[in-house]
Amino acid sequence: MARIVMKFGGTSMAGIERIRRVAQIVKQQADAGHEVAVVVSAMAGDTDRLVNFCREASSLYDPAEYDVVVASGEQVTSGLLSIALQSLGAKARSWLGWQMPIRTIESHSKARIETIDAADLIQSMQDGQIAIIPGFQGISKDGRITTLGRGGSDTSAVAIAAAVKADRCDIYTDVDGVYTTDPRIVTKARKLKTVTFEEMLELASVGAKVLQTRSVGLAMKEGVRIQVLSSFTDESVNYTADDLPGTLIISEDEMETDDMERQLITGIAHDKNESKITLTRVPDKPGAVANIFEPLAEAAINVDMIVQNVGRDKGETDVTFTAPTVDLDKTMQVLEAAQPDIGYNRLISDSNVAKISVVGVGMKSHAGIASTMFKALADRGVNIQAITTSEIKVSVLIEEDYTELALRVLHTAYGLDSEDAT
Ligand code: ADP
Ligand code: ASP
Ligand code: MG
Repeated sequence: MARIVMKFGGTSMAGIERIRRVAQIVKQQADAGHEVAVVVSAMAGDTDRLVNFCREASSLYDPAEYDVVVASGEQVTSGLLSIALQSLGAKARSWLGWQMPIRTIESHSKARIETIDAADLIQSMQDGQIAIIPGFQGISKDGRITTLGRGGSDTSAVAIAAAVKADRCDIYTDVDGVYTTDPRIVTKARKLKTVTFEEMLELASVGAKVLQTRSVGLAMKEGVRIQVLSSFTDESVNYTADDLPGTLIISEDEMETDDMERQLITGIAHDKNESKITLTRVPDKPGAVANIFEPLAEAAINVDMIVQNVGRDKGETDVTFTAPTVDLDKTMQVLEAAQPDIGYNRLISDSNVAKISVVGVGMKSHAGIASTMFKALADRGVNIQAITTSEIKVSVLIEEDYTELALRVLHTAYGLDSEDAT
């Protein structure tokens, strides 16, 4: 017997028919004698709809009330899954964030989980009751509902798994594992049997939204065993089998003995949610760059890629960087206000860009990864606007319209194409 946390994403929960299928999958685990807690997302599209309602109501909405609104999608699906399980003859009940409680910091719309009091939950699981927990939500110290940022149900699931000391955290989604790149864009993408925490963390942080970045960091820290698999299977699939056909996220130590045919590059991700900002003719002198990025940091704007061009003859230079498109208006306002201190000439923004990143631990010991990327893109006429690297990642900024082409070309260039796909 094992203790399992299962998480079902938005498409898995989209409508009563899908929820019935989820109930069957959950019941299969309970019938096999496992203790089961289930974390659910809102129905696909519902959170977007709720976010838009807040924006429509007021562009300056109160983040605490935003959380009250957007957390409701998960409340609906947790109740519906409990009803569906009960109608299959299983014992099940929902546990809302405040009922456990899942305590978070106060930072509304992007809260972090601090503690989970799981004693009652564990007791009820031991009594054979399936616990259904709405993902994405928690409660702050002052008793108000918080949410964990978009895609946050993955993090809820990992946090619950850590709190109940689960043997596994199974993340069910609409693809059957983690692929070498988004399989909805590149048909030749290959499913990975295993990925290291480090690689998954990097892939998630550069746009592979199959897992929320924070869920991977938390799993790494707490030693939670994550498996990504699909809920879109027919009834013949036995989810209690030992060799489930998903992707297991493992530590680097486990990897060395596990996968002999490991590629240099594990995966390629894309992110269309950043914009490029350029300041022209910034004085080329000590402190100039600090004058740009200090006010942005004070405004809590996360700057990503930074390029400072070679100075011109008149002691001036151009500075380019990227920031999240949702923060673009704020970024422009901050920089306009800081113009007298910075002393730039023009401020230009471009949201028609995408960041493409290649990730792999094999990079640590191999040269030439970046140059393969630059050459493959150059051969197809794709211009690179900015570059950043880390120990296991190379990212480039390109025009957004070339995203699909770049992913396909790089996938082939690094020898990742699946043999059986067309
Ligand atoms: P859920 O609603 O279940 O949380 P998400 O939409 O958040 O699902 O994440 C699943 C999606 O992630 C897939 O449909 C796929 O398009 C996308 N994705 C991006 N990169 C990858 C990748 N490397 N492997 C698998 N899926 C990926
Ligand atoms: N429903 C939330 C969202 O769409 C959380 C999640 O699905 O993980 O972002
Ligand atoms: Mg998700």
